Amino acid sequence: MADKFDVIVIGAGPGGYVAAIRAAQLGMKVACVEKWVNKSGKTVHGGTCLNVGCIPSKALLETSHKYVEARDEYSELGIEVSDVQMDVKKMMARKEKTVANLTGGISALFKANGVTALEGTGKLLPGKKVEVTDHEGNSETYEAANVVIASGSVPVEIPPAPLTEGLIVDSSGALEFQEVPKRLGVIGAGVIGLELGSVWKRLGSEVTVLEAMDSFLPVVDDQIAKETKKILGKQGLDIRLGARVTGTDIKDNEVVVKYTDSNGEQEQTFDKLIVCVGRRPYTQSLLADGTGVELDERGFIQVDDTCQTNAPGVFAIGDVVRGPMLAHKGSEEGMMVADIIHGEKAQMNYDAIPSVIYTAPEVAWVGMSEQQAKKEGFEVKCGVFPFSASGRAMANNATEGMAKVVTDASTDRILGVHIIGQHAGELIAQGVIAMEFGSSAEDLALTCFAHPTLSEAVHEAALAVDGHAIHMANRKKR
Ligand code: FAD
Ligand code: AMP
Repeated sequence: MADKFDVIVIGAGPGGYVAAIRAAQLGMKVACVEKWVNKSGKTVHGGTCLNVGCIPSKALLETSHKYVEARDEYSELGIEVSDVQMDVKKMMARKEKTVANLTGGISALFKANGVTALEGTGKLLPGKKVEVTDHEGNSETYEAANVVIASGSVPVEIPPAPLTEGLIVDSSGALEFQEVPKRLGVIGAGVIGLELGSVWKRLGSEVTVLEAMDSFLPVVDDQIAKETKKILGKQGLDIRLGARVTGTDIKDNEVVVKYTDSNGEQEQTFDKLIVCVGRRPYTQSLLADGTGVELDERGFIQVDDTCQTNAPGVFAIGDVVRGPMLAHKGSEEGMMVADIIHGEKAQMNYDAIPSVIYTAPEVAWVGMSEQQAKKEGFEVKCGVFPFSASGRAMANNATEGMAKVVTDASTDRILGVHIIGQHAGELIAQGVIAMEFGSSAEDLALTCFAHPTLSEAVHEAALAVDGHAIHMANRKKR
């Protein structure tokens, strides 16, 4: 038997690496097992988020947005540029460099914090032992007082659209195209489908998004979702709702997609097809018999509010457990679990986890939508402020969208904040902080915001709850 650790973490994504670093900061002896290898065969830390998720997708979104600004919007500002060209290979190289810097940074943080990096596949054995099998097939078993499983998730595959090298790809494949496909199909109008569809649309693809459901972004506040669909449609994303993909054929290096909609059977041909129909928890070869760790009916590891599994001393966090599949949710769980293992009382507020869609404009929200709040039985009062009335948004030439504050009418407590607009992903932090502090709309309304900022739209939306937005008509007299 090899070393004994206070904590062994399986998986070094944003859930696992944060748990490992926090546990080491608290003075515990920690190891983190990771099996991901990059194209050069080197073990890399950072998981989905750093390698094929949040970071590379944002690198491509930022570059493609800047390209569109230079090509289509600069002249409105008086900046004349001609012959704006996109070098896709250079864009990809920068994305890869960013990924390499960040994944290397996690390995450096492990060293700096004294986390032992174990390379290979971790398997939980009964009695909190972890067997690690390296890439040559050699195994070593380690003992731990506590184990944290952070094995993450992988893309869902669907039988009608099996992945086909270079033609039908998942989100990871869509981050690797070396040239702009002329006709691009996207299955699924979820967050990832819309982000990746936007990248390639901006670079010149004709993009068709096929979504089985009749509703668009059902998790988003209706008013914001409607605005999002309108704006993305104006940008040229052809989003077809009620369109369920039933089959695909490869013919002459093209993908023929069959789908059904309200008019019956349809067919459309694409140069490439991205399958973005969600992600599923990843637990392959992870659990030996007799560990006591149980999965729910959807394959997620079953945990309580503090991420403890059915096996004492075994925790699970991030995408492999219930809750939104978001990097920051996994990281927060990682910190909570490390604190609990250290003997502290820690908990997480699952009601104040922000979500962001990094389209342009961005869409961001925290807490309940107006519809959800009503469904939960609240008498709801909302304040909405359009960016078209914001001085800074006008100065920025970015007047699309709105900020919306949803409150409980009887207490004025903020139940949710929803924003579509430039930098919504940054602005939403104000809603998160307000909700963490149990703020009322009046508390936000009585707060001084810098001028001119986009944040003033959040302030005005809070003022609007009581009909007192300043820069908007039809305000109420006291
Ligand atoms: P992961 O990041 O999946 O990491 C799990 C790690 O465990 C992996 O490195 C894996 O190799 C390793 N592992 C698994 N099993 C074993 C084993 N048995 N032994 C050893 N190692 C193992 N989220 C956001 O919050 N914001 C975004 O903007 C965002 N954009 C995204 C864009 C895309 C295209 C995708 C695909 C995802 C995006 N996400 C985003 C989601 C985000 O990436 C995930 O929520 C997050 O990575 C989950 O973290 P995790 O630590 O639970 O798992
Ligand atoms: P998300 O889980 O948010 O990433 O979204 C995935 C989307 O894919 C959901 O909105 C699903 O309705 C959609 N979807 C799943 N299967 C199909 C299919 N066969 N055809 C079209 N859309 C699908």
